[in-house]
Amino acid sequence: MEDATERRGIRRAAISLAVPANSQSLRRHNLALVLQSIAHRGRPTRAQVAGFSGLTKATVSSLVDTLVGAGLVISGDPDRGLVGRPGSPLGLDPAGPAGLGVEINVDYFSVCIVDFTGAVRFERVVAGDNRQRSAESVLRSAARAAERALDEAAGSGLEIAGLAVAVPGLVDLDGVLRRAPNLPGWEDVEVGERLRDLIRQPMRTASCDNEANHAALAELWFGGEPPLRDFVHVSGEIGVGAGIVVGGELWRGASGLGGELGHVMVEPDGPMCSCGARGCLEQVAGQEALLRAAGAPARAATALGAPDGSTRELLERALAGDVRTLATLERAGAALGAALAALVNLVGVPAVVLGGLYAELAPWLTEPVMAELRTRVLSFAWSPVALSVSPLGGTAAVRGAAGTVVRAILEDPAAWFPEMLATS
Ligand SMILES: [Zn+2]
Repeated sequence: MEDATERRGIRRAAISLAVPANSQSLRRHNLALVLQSIAHRGRPTRAQVAGFSGLTKATVSSLVDTLVGAGLVISGDPDRGLVGRPGSPLGLDPAGPAGLGVEINVDYFSVCIVDFTGAVRFERVVAGDNRQRSAESVLRSAARAAERALDEAAGSGLEIAGLAVAVPGLVDLDGVLRRAPNLPGWEDVEVGERLRDLIRQPMRTASCDNEANHAALAELWFGGEPPLRDFVHVSGEIGVGAGIVVGGELWRGASGLGGELGHVMVEPDGPMCSCGARGCLEQVAGQEALLRAAGAPARAATALGAPDGSTRELLERALAGDVRTLATLERAGAALGAALAALVNLVGVPAVVLGGLYAELAPWLTEPVMAELRTRVLSFAWSPVALSVSPLGGTAAVRGAAGTVVRAILEDPAAWFPEMLATS
């Protein structure tokens, strides 16, 4: 028995000597495995991490020491009644690398910093109509706001690993904003890179994605309990944003330009849409369409950009039982439900999360949305679709953006700290 173990040991050593790249990639993989076990299992001990990961306790202990040394993991006080290190609960280090998120929207931009545990450490919304300004001018203002956030973070000892930007438009897989229907002049802009150039502090990475994708990621990482792994997050803003998560991963489509639920046709003879087609969901359930139909002043303003603006008025009218507003929300809910039912029939996501303005309007939207899902989703009898309301509020997208930076480190810590691959 011992001979066999020894032989295996010798063989492993021989392999690692012959092909060092393999032992490095194994270590890289195991570092990520251990880090993710710590992140997702709620303060496990080394012995528990060994159980989750299938690695030996000795290997886990050595990898944990490396992660502690890199400033990614902290080892808490040993649990009472247990002796020595094995009982110490492990957690992500709140002083570890943090993420900077910036959201550029139609009538505000916002800045957020989340620490390595995902906790929000800084958040600021700056209202102002960005349609009246050039992309460059908006990005310069956002860069100054980001610098103030970075100064504040540095004051509390946080180091920022990277930047991610959320924008209301079509972003391809290279992070280029191709078009933002409600932000004229924002065409083919490398928003992440440009903002990185404008921020005076150095930033290791910069990326850009659609706000709806970032909001869905925020829901995946920081949303309700128990966490969902398969869902569509749909939020009503000036457009309709949808982010689809399948198997715990954001579904981007081959080009990265998919998920445009707002341009699914819901009324063949409906109004013309800004996209050039007729009867899109956005024209029935988008914010401007809702305001128009309810007879409220149709100023295109978001709840974050104009907290006392037209969306507040829409809510007040609904609360007051205004008949026209209630009929508008009934129709919008049915259209939203029909579009969502088409998505569920095709993709099979078992849960729908209402975010943004739809979260606030949920008391009036839930019933008509559910009625359509019940009628139209073929598999509903065996696999009912769960409808829930996002707890994250209007800043989900910027929080998701900041979260992508931290998540990238959790997924492959050695890519960020290559020195961890050197075995001691
Ligand atoms: Zn359209």
